[in-house]
Amino acid sequence: MNCPCSKTLSYSECCEPLHKNKNVATSSEQLMRSRYSAYALGLGEYLYETTDPKFASREEIVEYISQSKEQLEWLQLDVISSSKNRVEFKAYYMEDEKLFVLHEKSEFINIDGKWFYESGELLTSKIERNIPCPCGSGKKVKKCHK
Ligand SMILES: [Zn+2]
Ligand SMILES: [Zn+2]
Repeated sequence: MNCPCSKTLSYSECCEPLHKNKNVATSSEQLMRSRYSAYALGLGEYLYETTDPKFASREEIVEYISQSKEQLEWLQLDVISSSKNRVEFKAYYMEDEKLFVLHEKSEFINIDGKWFYESGELLTSKIERNIPCPCGSGKKVKKCHK
């Protein structure tokens, strides 16, 4: 299967080695991508292990994942920009047959060679009507999930 974070790479050559603790992320962007894939696959444990413990408790994360797993379908990740400690991205998802976008600037921290999600700033963003619909229909958003 394709990796949830990528349209071209397979899961086994992208995020799976990180999820299985065979590799560690070498950049904040790589960690961010693997966390997106973990959201898409419902891997709450991985999200917990890669979140700065100051940010959220284990219970909060596990509860958030178990809720969103049932309601949300993650469709597509677009990384807008990334620097050493910060990644700006848009993540498209479906909820109740409607298309939404999560636009966030995330901050990451490296502790002893390992990257952690530290905090995020949500930005409001409209879905562009002329991009291919993230649902994969092949139609533009305005002719599909507007
Ligand atoms: Zn991936
Ligand atoms: Zn669509």
